[in-house]
Amino acid sequence: MVHFTRLRLSGFKSFVEPTELLIEPGMTGIVGPNGCGKSNLVEALRWVMGESSARQMRGSEMDDVIFGGTDQRPARNLAEVSVWLDNRERGLKGSLADADELQVTRRIERGSGSAYRLNGRDIRAKDAQLLFADAATGARSTAIVSQGRIGAIINAKPAQRRALLEEAAGISGLHSRRHEAELR
Ligand code: ATP
Ligand code: MG
Repeated sequence: MVHFTRLRLSGFKSFVEPTELLIEPGMTGIVGPNGCGKSNLVEALRWVMGESSARQMRGSEMDDVIFGGTDQRPARNLAEVSVWLDNRERGLKGSLADADELQVTRRIERGSGSAYRLNGRDIRAKDAQLLFADAATGARSTAIVSQGRIGAIINAKPAQRRALLEEAAGISGLHSRRHEAELR
């Protein structure tokens, strides 16, 4: 098991000031009025795990995750999100992840793209994505269900719904390996 213990945002979407959230074990609920930033928090989690599509972040380009300013505050040029994980049970494996606590940070500067760090060391986007994908909590995994997705699943065609069920059952990897074997 991997447990997210802390999330810190700065300059990310509506979270212009540094904001830190402690995530206790068990169920966490985020409540608040429309537009207060609940979905932005979930997007921060998805983003720090390596989301590479601006559309998935409800933007047209990746720089749109940077605080864009309001009537009262100027825009920022930098956004940073860090997430801390309790990895004592080594839910995240591999040489990069061999530590009891992991801190993954992603930072974006307007016009110059993203950089990632793991426990203070520079890593590639791919490293961050693989780290989380192996624990079945990737930016695109079914562990995160965005607003509107439930409706999309209900309205999905049977084949698309089957793919989701197969991913939930953990057999989609098996299918792609079988496909690869049949091609040989
Ligand atoms: P709902 O209950 O309607 O789902 P929510 O709590 O999920 O609302 P979010 O969608 O997370 O709300 O937040 C939307 C707010 O974030 C809007 O006010 C929007 O202007 C603001 N926002 C999004 N991106 C940025 C950005 N880059 N810069 C500044 N503000 C932003
Ligand atoms: Mg929302």
